Amino acid sequence: MSRLKDKTAIVTGANSGIGLATAKAFLDEGAARVYLTGRRKAELDAAVSALGSRAVAVQGDVTNPADLDRLVDLVKTEVGHVDVVFANAGFAKPAPLGNLTEQHVDDLLNTNVKGVIWTVQKTLPLIRSGGSIILRGSIVGSKGFNGWSIYSATKAAVRSFARTWASDLKGQNIRVNVVSPGVIETPGHDKMGISKDEVSGFFGFAASVAPLARIGRDDEVARVAAFLASDDSSFVTGSEYFVDGGIAQI
Ligand code: NDP
Repeated sequence: MSRLKDKTAIVTGANSGIGLATAKAFLDEGAARVYLTGRRKAELDAAVSALGSRAVAVQGDVTNPADLDRLVDLVKTEVGHVDVVFANAGFAKPAPLGNLTEQHVDDLLNTNVKGVIWTVQKTLPLIRSGGSIILRGSIVGSKGFNGWSIYSATKAAVRSFARTWASDLKGQNIRVNVVSPGVIETPGHDKMGISKDEVSGFFGFAASVAPLARIGRDDEVARVAAFLASDDSSFVTGSEYFVDGGIAQI
């Protein structure tokens, strides 16, 4: 397939998990160049060398505006424009009401909300007409699982951005959509600060309530992002795609 032929893309948080699978899907669809970001340099370098010469590593933290400026400068110098911006970087951590700390709240808001805001606003001047902005939401943005209030609120904010920014960009031929996965097995689950047993219990529950009786895969989420990045979705903006238990739903 070559639905992304001649397109340049940025994927934040692409040295692991769904972001890495999405960078791969964009390249498989013929993207001319995909810029991958992440804070861990070794993982980023390994990802880029596995993906080949059309993948470019830009180490950086989405909570650091100077790192985002460096990314924008590089894309501007090397290509001059971008067609697809995928604000994927983020993390999940639980904490129940009563045990919330300043650090928990600040960390989640800084990465999952402010990181998305500045990624999009700083790259916007480079986005060509016909461009596609894709945001990483989660099904929790419209659910109420106990213990996940702050993480869920960050994803609810992102879901809201897709709708409002789609309106802000009306008339500019730039689309904004959000992809909201259910439970997808990625290294992200090992960093949530909960035990392996709790993670596997969580996976089992999610599989038991999914129509295909299994949890989702990163390549399935990536294929939805590849559709939203391509001109096949030129009529789609302000929408939320759920990818849960192996099934995509709008
Ligand atoms: P991973 O931990 O595998 O990937 C997270 C990616 O984000 C990594 O590349 C990580 O790289 C990067 N990242 C995290 N913080 C920052 C930061 N401050 N600056 C730059 N990059 C950062 O997890 P997933 O693939 O599961 O998660 C990807 C996204 O998908 C997240 O937004 C997550 O909330 C969302 N999501 C995941 C679901 C799931 O079930 N897996 C379900 C719904 C949504 P590094 O640490 O090197 O910076």
